[in-house]
Amino acid sequence: MMQANTRQSIGVTILGSTGTIGNNTLDVISRHPDQYHIVALTAKSQIDRLLEQCKKFNPEFAVLASVDAAEKFEKKVKAIGLPITVLSGNEGLEQVAGHDHTQYVMAAIVGAAGLRPTLAAARRGKRILLANKEALVMSGKIFMDVVKNNGAELLPIDSEHNAVFQCMPLGFSDGLSNVGVRRILLTASGGPFRETPIDQLNDVTPEQACAHPNWVMGKKISIDSATMMNKGLEVIEACWLFNTDADHIQIVLHPQSVIHSMVEYADGSVLAQLGNPDMRTPIAHALAWPGRIESGVTSLDMFEVARLDFEAPDFQRFPCLRLAIDAMKMGGTSPTVLNAANEVAVQAFIDGNLRFIDIANVIEFALSEISPQQVKDLKMILDTDELARDVSNAFVKQKAAKIGNLN
Ligand code: NAD
Ligand code: MG
Repeated sequence: MMQANTRQSIGVTILGSTGTIGNNTLDVISRHPDQYHIVALTAKSQIDRLLEQCKKFNPEFAVLASVDAAEKFEKKVKAIGLPITVLSGNEGLEQVAGHDHTQYVMAAIVGAAGLRPTLAAARRGKRILLANKEALVMSGKIFMDVVKNNGAELLPIDSEHNAVFQCMPLGFSDGLSNVGVRRILLTASGGPFRETPIDQLNDVTPEQACAHPNWVMGKKISIDSATMMNKGLEVIEACWLFNTDADHIQIVLHPQSVIHSMVEYADGSVLAQLGNPDMRTPIAHALAWPGRIESGVTSLDMFEVARLDFEAPDFQRFPCLRLAIDAMKMGGTSPTVLNAANEVAVQAFIDGNLRFIDIANVIEFALSEISPQQVKDLKMILDTDELARDVSNAFVKQKAAKIGNLN
């Protein structure tokens, strides 16, 4: 069991500890038992995995999404005599994210469900290690304002954004042109269907869509990578993180995923961050920043890599990419609608109620039904999210009725 609370040890809360990012974060932390200890671990419902993590990392708190799951978990914790306070729901998540003992929060819940606890961490001025891109996409300016007004530190975990952050000069938040940056080159692997003939995309299954060539990830982001909505969300994410617009971000297909992104300067210099595709690198970077720590990632073997390829993105093959960029340009509540519709569509595809190629149609429909409004407050974001889910679910139902359940 890891020793908690040595004098300089930093208290870390992991929102979504049972997921891919959560597990990788625990892996990095376990390599530095003197520097970090765990304050809280949280999961939706994976009780057994969470229990294993609690046995090893001895947190003060554990949080489950529902009261029911929390009760089941508490019984197990009591049975083995672990001194852990078990909480549930959004209140539980917000409590641990903003707790005095928490200094760093890894925001690794997938989807809109991660927004409120991440905002709670920002309000309490924590260091936020942001993996949960959906939270930033859906609430853009509000999220960034809460971070700024409360002195929180925002460090990107998404590999591309972490790479950009590493290549950026200090002071970038005042605007890229002020610090001599011309544009961001955001790399993308192109996912599993980069070369699949377009007519074959009709019959793609969730298993095929989740088989990413370079990265092992949760289901939702794997499917987002297959539609390239992931890159669309990342363009929006980059606009907010680096205070720029979509016209200053060039997507570059780079199938090897060795360059994780680049920054081009006014003098023509292009700085890149390279490494093996392993999320422990950005996680370790954000934990230790501005220092550096071991992550467990092996050295990049340039001779094995041998070559690096680059291609322009294909907006016809990947309509989600265009939809995301257009939503960002449209502004206001459009990215909120885009994100919610995408979450509904991806879940419907996983459940066998929607064809792969219809994911983009659901999003396009939601964006056409709900006209963009200027964002005034968080309530407006949450209301828009709910409305977009209703509209998208209705559209999915209609589609499913037409084609019959696909299973
Ligand atoms: P995952 O599905 O493996 O894990 C998600 C975690 O969130 C789990 O711990 C789950 O229990 C928890 N969770 C899910 N729904 C919840 C809910 N309603 N309430 C409370 N907890 C909930 O996902 P992942 O691949 O680890 O990705 C997490 C986030 O990081 C996503 O936003 C993703 O886009 C982002 N991200 C992931 C990667 C990657 O390599 N996996 C890379 C970049 C960004
Ligand atoms: Mg990424």
